[in-house]
Amino acid sequence: MSQSITRQNFDEWMMPVYAPASFIPVRGEGSTLWDQQGKDYIDFAGGIAVNALGHANPDLRKALEEQAAKFWHTGNGYTNEPILRLAKQLIDATFADKVFFCNSGAEANEVALKLARKYAHDNFGPNKSGIVAFKNAFHGRTLFTVSAGGQPAYSQDFAPLPPQISHAIYNDLQSASELINENTCAVIVEPMQGEGGVVPADPTFLQGLRELCDRHNAVLIFDEVQTGVGRTGELYAYMHYGITPDVLSTAKALGGGFPIGAMLTTDKFSKVMVVGTHGTTYGGNPLAGAVAGRVMEIINTPEVLNGVKQRHAWFVERLNKINQKHQLFSEVRGLGLLIGCVLQPEYSGKAKLILQAAAQEGLMMLIAGANVVRFAPALIVSEAEVQKGLDRFERACERFLAGEQS
Ligand SMILES: *Cc1c(COP(=O)(O)O)cnc(C)c1O
Repeated sequence: MSQSITRQNFDEWMMPVYAPASFIPVRGEGSTLWDQQGKDYIDFAGGIAVNALGHANPDLRKALEEQAAKFWHTGNGYTNEPILRLAKQLIDATFADKVFFCNSGAEANEVALKLARKYAHDNFGPNKSGIVAFKNAFHGRTLFTVSAGGQPAYSQDFAPLPPQISHAIYNDLQSASELINENTCAVIVEPMQGEGGVVPADPTFLQGLRELCDRHNAVLIFDEVQTGVGRTGELYAYMHYGITPDVLSTAKALGGGFPIGAMLTTDKFSKVMVVGTHGTTYGGNPLAGAVAGRVMEIINTPEVLNGVKQRHAWFVERLNKINQKHQLFSEVRGLGLLIGCVLQPEYSGKAKLILQAAAQEGLMMLIAGANVVRFAPALIVSEAEVQKGLDRFERACERFLAGEQS
């Protein structure tokens, strides 16, 4: 017997940390989802930059189902073929020599920060513990990663927080150089801030951080949880900038919707993490390995990566056209298929209202803070879906503006 479910049940049964949309999706295909009433939605949210290959992708289903018929889990007392193949794919495709697998972005950043502390303590002594992060950054919700994040609203209620984490201003090298010194063990930065408003780094800023880390023997960590796996039109955003980190965290799109995270690094750093220093029960399980391996095979190709750049152009062209007509945004920014539209000051704080209007028009999208509407669609979203979704977005903007005037 199965119980019938309504959106109201969420408010009855779930810890109230989320405020989900008023509809419940029940089925998806490509970049279209259908709700319980059969209404269709174009999906430009992509599960928050996760569903890089759309919904119910036949190749990913096949990878998942084939592995599901073999075995699901053994724990880390045993390794398995799918996860080792995925490790080799990631190593061959990037700067990395070694990989650690986990289940989420926060966990990938957690091990990155732990590695940096241990590397510094082992090599330079116990005082080298400082972590420099950035205001408005987002690194996850564990206590360590939320403390590294630069939004005090997310961390302050959970004090006492882990000490020796300081925050510089993003894209301001001077402010970073004032905090980075011989006691800094790590600098953690997103090559493009996602949650913080879709803000790409200036190349000179990342280059400057690279040089400061080299000078002070600090580990440079790129948090590519949102920007990784093709999102910017390169496999990883560091390739776009031509600046190589020491450690990179990746998750979100890596599993195409199946939970997986990974930390990539070189032999020099990974060797401090000897047997017993870190671990996770599910990390590196064969189901995740099989799906992510297929995701990597599909995305790390010139067709898909060039397709992201093409789609970026479709979006930006049309968004600029919508904006010429309605003057809603002061800026359209971002790389690849992570695109943000910054609201004009007169509409500041109202991004959520546009998102709600979009849902009424049959469009799923995201915000990044209260002033930026954000798009993170599937990397293979079709041109027809892009145009249909942006038609709906334009109607949502009109609906929002009508509400403003009434
Ligand atoms: C989403 C995100 C995280 C956290 O990932 P989870 O899988 O939610 O733990 C960390 N860093 C960045 C940049 C993200 O966008």
